[in-house]
Amino acid sequence: MAGILGARTTRTPTGTLVIHCPVCKAQNVSAETYTSSEQLVLLYAIPFTPKSYTYWLTCPNCRETLRAEFEAEYLRAYPPEDIAGFIHHRVSPIKKLLAILAILFFFWPLLGLLLTIPAAIVNYKTRAWTRKVSLLALGLSVIAHLVFAAMGIFSSAGR
Ligand SMILES: [Zn+2]
Repeated sequence: MAGILGARTTRTPTGTLVIHCPVCKAQNVSAETYTSSEQLVLLYAIPFTPKSYTYWLTCPNCRETLRAEFEAEYLRAYPPEDIAGFIHHRVSPIKKLLAILAILFFFWPLLGLLLTIPAAIVNYKTRAWTRKVSLLALGLSVIAHLVFAAMGIFSSAGR
């Protein structure tokens, strides 16, 4: 069945829009805007569903991806203060998932470190909440493992 039904995604640049960035708080920055369209197609060619459009911006200061509720052309008529209500920071689902797994399982011997280290690496550069959560999970995990070591969990496991 694979290949019969697929998704076709296109990304069309739509210029720039002056915004106040909700992530890094930069004021009056000129963000690049683009429209993304997604459509299910049969056999790579035959449209199976109508195109669905989503609207996006990239902050020139922090490079984070922002989701807009309306297309840039429509928002351009408004000042940055008003636009702020229509744009939201989007954190990638993988970053969120790793951050959540890290904070849930940081205290598991070894597995905790195997989750919290990658979560911290992936989230280190973002300014979203996942950064704080991941770094906290890594810190707690290191402490937990020092406690395990002090309690001799690893040495007694091999007896
Ligand atoms: Zn920004």
